Amino acid sequence: MTIETDLEEIKNMCAMCENCTLAKSRTQTVFSAGVPNNKLMLIGEAPGFYEDKQGEPFVGKAGQLLDRIFNSVGLSRQKNIYICNTIKCRPPENRDPLPEEKAACRAFLDAQIEILKPRIILLCGKVALTSFINTTNGITKMRGKWFEGPYGSRMMPIFHPSYLLRNDSHEKGSPKWLMWQDIQEVKRVYDELAEE
Ligand code: SF4
Repeated sequence: MTIETDLEEIKNMCAMCENCTLAKSRTQTVFSAGVPNNKLMLIGEAPGFYEDKQGEPFVGKAGQLLDRIFNSVGLSRQKNIYICNTIKCRPPENRDPLPEEKAACRAFLDAQIEILKPRIILLCGKVALTSFINTTNGITKMRGKWFEGPYGSRMMPIFHPSYLLRNDSHEKGSPKWLMWQDIQEVKRVYDELAEE
């Protein structure tokens, strides 16, 4: 068995999943995008309208911005990032996933992490943040810090690109400026891992 076949098996199980009520309203499950690898995984929140239609996480304007952010430091979903969400079906009206939906779907996310054992995990937005870190602090306080993650990984919460789209300033201290600091730190650690 390879990483790819292990992931394919979980993806097929996910596609048939009816463990929560979101199965009824989805167009399709949204399992992952990018390159399966053991270095860099990004975990977002939940599929939105375009993701549900296309079956891929982070498409639409937020996804395009995320791609530009990674491209600015030489990373991309075509070459070195594996992307998924905390839950695999779109919540109605793009609301946040309910605790019971996150719990019902958690086994798929855990399986993705267990198969890949990524060295860096980026928690993109508050839903991903609170799925892994027990905190009442928001993403603005938690972003940019490294935390210990599963299988010895390093986890960093980062802003969700949808939030950045709503905050257009590039001034020092703005969300976009902070994201730029965070992504450079991620690249620094990524490069260190590449040298090991
Ligand atoms: S969100 Fe997850 S648990 Fe719920 S139906 Fe979709 S795949 Fe299954």
